[in-house]
Amino acid sequence: MPELPEVETVKNTLNLLIKDKIIDHVSVHLARIIQRPDDIEEFSFLLAGHTIQGVERRGKFLRILLDGLVLVSHLRMEGRYGLFSSQDPVEKHTHVIFHFNDGTELRYKDVRQFGTMHLFGAGEELINLPLSKLGIEPLDESFTKEKLKMILNGKKTKIKSVLLNQVYIVGIGNIYVDESLFKAGIHPELNAGSLEDKQIEKLHHAIVNTLSESIEAGGSSIKSYVNGQGEMGMFQQQLQVYGRQGKPCVKCSALIEKTVVGGRGTHFCPKCQEI
Ligand SMILES: [Zn+2]
Repeated sequence: MPELPEVETVKNTLNLLIKDKIIDHVSVHLARIIQRPDDIEEFSFLLAGHTIQGVERRGKFLRILLDGLVLVSHLRMEGRYGLFSSQDPVEKHTHVIFHFNDGTELRYKDVRQFGTMHLFGAGEELINLPLSKLGIEPLDESFTKEKLKMILNGKKTKIKSVLLNQVYIVGIGNIYVDESLFKAGIHPELNAGSLEDKQIEKLHHAIVNTLSESIEAGGSSIKSYVNGQGEMGMFQQQLQVYGRQGKPCVKCSALIEKTVVGGRGTHFCPKCQEI
């Protein structure tokens, strides 16, 4: 599942690929990807003739800005975009095609079919679901250690569950929560409200660092999320705990353990992250 760094990478790539392109028409082959408006013909009608002005990110959502409209797209498990010529054969599981007036096409492919698109008038997207209930951006300047302390204060839920909850902080998913907690030396099952100032400071640093490093590395996703330029997100970044159960910890050589927290597979070092 793409997390903040992967979506940031997709955003950057889409800005290179589709900015200033004009939509001629849109074909939708799987209606349920389009969550707003209800009618896929209206979706296509509204988008025709619009120019792509740029792509931004909010949490794990892409905001594709068109003159006067905003398309909010979530890739969920396996959604991906690719830029093709209209002559290229259409791959299986391609559900939405944005046909541009220059003979190229942005194609949305999604094997699992969990991805969503919502179309809004510009500005409306921020006050409506799914974006309206999103928490703070962890790479925004306003995400300080004091802010993190405020978020955690008094919470009796496990730290991992709080970090995964998009209502508080957006974009950090299962992989980067495990990595951040490991870097900070914090057990994923500790009560969020019980963290001491020093731990919060370490955690804040770990979150910002982990996400920034991954963006630099092009996102650490196991699969490619954009195939328009070939190599997006293909290189798995050096993950220190995620997926390393049974292997020696890079800091202390104890064996990494895997458990389940809040229904999610959770990786940690029993020595570096004592409860
Ligand atoms: Zn360790």
